[in-house]
Amino acid sequence: MRIDLHAHSDRSDGTTTPTELVRHAAEVGIDVLALTDHDTTEGWAEAAEAAEREGVALVRGIEISCKLDGNATHLLAYLPDPSYAPLGRELERILDGRNARLPATLAKLRRPGIDVTEDDVRRVAGDAAALGRPHVADALVDKGVVGHRGEAFDNYLGSRGPAYVQRYAPPLEAMLHTVAEAGGVTVIAHPWAKRHNFAALDEARFAALKDEGLAGIEVDHQDHDEATRDRLRAIARNVDLVVTGSSDYHGAGKVAHDLGCNTTDAEEFSRLMELARRAATASGRSTPEVVAQ
Ligand code: AMP
Ligand code: FE
Ligand code: FE
Ligand code: ZN
Repeated sequence: MRIDLHAHSDRSDGTTTPTELVRHAAEVGIDVLALTDHDTTEGWAEAAEAAEREGVALVRGIEISCKLDGNATHLLAYLPDPSYAPLGRELERILDGRNARLPATLAKLRRPGIDVTEDDVRRVAGDAAALGRPHVADALVDKGVVGHRGEAFDNYLGSRGPAYVQRYAPPLEAMLHTVAEAGGVTVIAHPWAKRHNFAALDEARFAALKDEGLAGIEVDHQDHDEATRDRLRAIARNVDLVVTGSSDYHGAGKVAHDLGCNTTDAEEFSRLMELARRAATASGRSTPEVVAQ
């Protein structure tokens, strides 16, 4: 069983359509795939159709942009009812914040004389519902200002870069509750990735978040080295959180994140799905099924 619980399509900052993503998963022998676009469920329906055709089990998810003590934190939410209004409202607020940020980012880029328009960004963003810095980066690549996305983040768009602009993100603890009320389960994405700068997220904090409803930790991720993974795995064991692993695939948008480069243990996956079943029952919401193989 090869289980990959974190992947993006072009509905956020991935570069493949949901259909292509699922087809690619089938080709490389992924049995269970989660589609987790940033702050949107736009790709779900298309991915579910493709999953049925391709014989891939699909877990419908979202990677939600949150804040923990003011630091950007990504929360993976699996199988929430997308029609639960408080969840929909928060996702909309995050997407509005992304759109509002774009002109401010472009104004900051004009200071050193770089002229990129909103149209330029929307053109490279194609069908994306969640416009983000990666799309601005793609527009900069398109204009020949930088060679690749990473360079755009290093020189301009990173949190300490000259064109960085804050945007709205809900508090993580509140989002843990909202997803649970929507009948879904939550996993903190790449908690100790360097760019997220997380001294605050230690064992005691994970235990506290578990009390607020957190189900798991994404341990096996490209942004974690071996020592980091070992320490996170120990924390997960000590506080009884599910351990997941994933590629965080973005198509051509991120190198060294090929589908299946990290995977989730079958036993850990069944624990997560059991928690999802319980959350669905407790909330009484009508949550998405996992498209079965
Ligand atoms: P945003 O959501 O608009 O704030 O942009 C954050 C997203 O940009 C992350 O979720 C990553 O997918 C991507 N990202 C962040 N840093 C980098 C980087 N150094 N190189 C490429 N992509 C990045
Ligand atoms: Fe991304
Ligand atoms: Fe992320
Ligand atoms: Zn991601």
